[in-house]
Amino acid sequence: MRALVLRGFGDAAVEEVPDPVPGPGEVVVDVACVQPSVTECMLLAGEPVAMHAVLAGRLAAGPTRFGGHEFAGVVRTLGPGVEESWAGARVTAVETAACGRCAACRRDRPDACPSPAILGFTGPGAFAERVVVPARTLVRVPDGVSAAQAAAIQPLAGAIHGHAAAGVRPGDSVLVIGAGVMGVLHTQVARHGNAGLVMVSGRSPAKRELAERAGADLVLDAAADVAAEVLAATEGIGADVVFETAGADTFGLAAACVRRGGSIVMVSVLPDQAPAPLARMRERSVTLLHPRSGAGGYSPGSGAFEHALRLVSRGDVDVSCLITHRLTGVEALPQALEITRDKGRFGALGPAQVDLFDWSRA
Ligand SMILES: [Zn+2]
Repeated sequence: MRALVLRGFGDAAVEEVPDPVPGPGEVVVDVACVQPSVTECMLLAGEPVAMHAVLAGRLAAGPTRFGGHEFAGVVRTLGPGVEESWAGARVTAVETAACGRCAACRRDRPDACPSPAILGFTGPGAFAERVVVPARTLVRVPDGVSAAQAAAIQPLAGAIHGHAAAGVRPGDSVLVIGAGVMGVLHTQVARHGNAGLVMVSGRSPAKRELAERAGADLVLDAAADVAAEVLAATEGIGADVVFETAGADTFGLAAACVRRGGSIVMVSVLPDQAPAPLARMRERSVTLLHPRSGAGGYSPGSGAFEHALRLVSRGDVDVSCLITHRLTGVEALPQALEITRDKGRFGALGPAQVDLFDWSRA
């Protein structure tokens, strides 16, 4: 089959590789649609974000396969011990599978497993025509949800985890800092859930318009005095919950906008050392939360993925508005990585997707 092979940082090409064979409890999935995550693009380019050292070590030993955990496809081959009902099913998969054997797993804390299998990170992922995944990580895609929507479901599951972590109560005011993919998804989940007043700040007019369509009551220009506008909109109290999705330099803004005793949920990926207004947060009893997000944080439970797919199936949450660039064929993977890594330059809102086949004709 054809798959993306990494020969060095910034040197990824689609090549012929052996067809995957499923082991016990595993299945082979024909990939219908896949999208890179921004983190994967950064790692493939050699940027020093989390897991860079692991990838560098593997590359020192020779060409390797890396990335591809946001995908959808059709189950093609079953390994020994897998239930027959999975044959031919339209699926996506939870990217992280706890080992099931360590002390944390035995104590029902799979999220604390020190050595989970992570699709595309600890083994080959879906930047390929076919991918092997453990059957226990499979999630069925409901009728009416497209492969493109299902491939984009993992970040929505992350937003659902974020809102669960914040414990948003009925009528709570919510501020979402940033109107990119995670900002728009958090806005929609807040709108669909308990939140009362939903405020979003964003830099680009296109993204602010998206935030408005996503159901925000108040859309703020990030270049304006966001803290003053949030205080004005909340009778001088500040937001009950702030979701920070824009990057580390807005941590101070989050602390200035949250109410006394409120919560800041860090959604964006932070550098190793980031300045934080700790004195203000301590004095105002602000809670800082780091919800499960991205590869490495989920338990193997598929509940958040199933819920996310139902929200999309019912039309409660729109993930299609973030899909602006769609490419065709496995050979387009390097181009999808390039677009996703530099979305602004290409005018993309979300990751560039690659369609490998039309599963409605499969
Ligand atoms: Zn474990």
